[in-house]
Amino acid sequence: MSKAIQLDGAEGGGQMLRTALTLAMITGQPFRMTNIRGGRPRPGLMRQHLTCVRAACEISDGTADGAEIGSTELVFRAGKVRHSSYHFAIGTAGSTGLLFQTLMPALAAAGGESTVVLEGGTHNPQAPPFEFLDQVFLPAMRRMGFDVSLTLDQTGFAPAGGGRIIAQIRPSGQPNAYFQRERGDSLGRSITVISRGVKQQVAERMISSARGILGWDEGSIDVRDQGPGSGICILVGQTFESGMELCSAFGEMGTMAEAVGTRAAKAMRDFIGCGAPVGRHLADQLLLPMALAGSGEFRTMSPDRHVPTNIAVIERFLPVAFTITEDVRGTRIIGCGPR
Ligand code: ATP
Repeated sequence: MSKAIQLDGAEGGGQMLRTALTLAMITGQPFRMTNIRGGRPRPGLMRQHLTCVRAACEISDGTADGAEIGSTELVFRAGKVRHSSYHFAIGTAGSTGLLFQTLMPALAAAGGESTVVLEGGTHNPQAPPFEFLDQVFLPAMRRMGFDVSLTLDQTGFAPAGGGRIIAQIRPSGQPNAYFQRERGDSLGRSITVISRGVKQQVAERMISSARGILGWDEGSIDVRDQGPGSGICILVGQTFESGMELCSAFGEMGTMAEAVGTRAAKAMRDFIGCGAPVGRHLADQLLLPMALAGSGEFRTMSPDRHVPTNIAVIERFLPVAFTITEDVRGTRIIGCGPR
């Protein structure tokens, strides 16, 4: 039995664990992670991370020691990943999107088609909303050769949850390298507010503040009546020849609608201003698939802490090395090649 890779999660969050689970399933190398989510105010496994561990065990016939709420140490050994039909319920509003991203690359390499139903949150702050996965992340994955589609069956806002997404994952072999230095011409833009159980005027105020910042006249309101709880989020999108970027912000008690619209619009303004084709969130989500391809390169905004922590995990599992080089207007070129 191969020796477990030792990983220290002290510098990062749940993404370090999810990346390790995915790569352990694909490479067959076990790992021991200590100080899980050590960089977070409440360290250790929360419900959504535990569901990722259990789901990884189920799809790969694997074992996990330390798979308990609050656990800061985990040893995970994958068996063989099986394509099949699966159903995982997080049990809270934890992000279905992050669970999907953990399982997808492993199931894509499993030699047959899988259908995965995931229940929990579909629109959570600090995670990719469903539309980001569908319109930003998946198009990038398809360019790399992944054959995956996602359906939103029911919207689930935090904290109530109750959302459901369905993923169809077809086998796709070795991913293609991802190269994207330029964004090309603008092809369109959108501002959408998704809401449930919140007054229409709140949505209108969000849209008008975002329009004010960006000088756009787009705007639509999409009311999702079905499902528990209530929630509201604004999605500001801009499509270039290279792909789409979608900046989101969520309404919360005690925060003015205008502040929420402004937050998403300013994130989009920063993205447009930097001139790079890849936004800050897509950047850290591209690292793992790019490393599976073995090479690639893209230009992005100055990265946040997810990039170095994710790279640190990936380089332990795969024979690749990443480089981050400063480029024009504060952007970075992130490259990956054989070590
Ligand atoms: P914690 O930080 O509490 O451990 P976590 O498990 O959610 O929580 P993170 O390590 O923070 O894990 O990873 C969150 C992921 O969600 C990252 O890939 C990040 O880029 C992505 N993300 C966060 N907000 C957005 C957003 N608004 N749009 C798209 N992706 C997002």
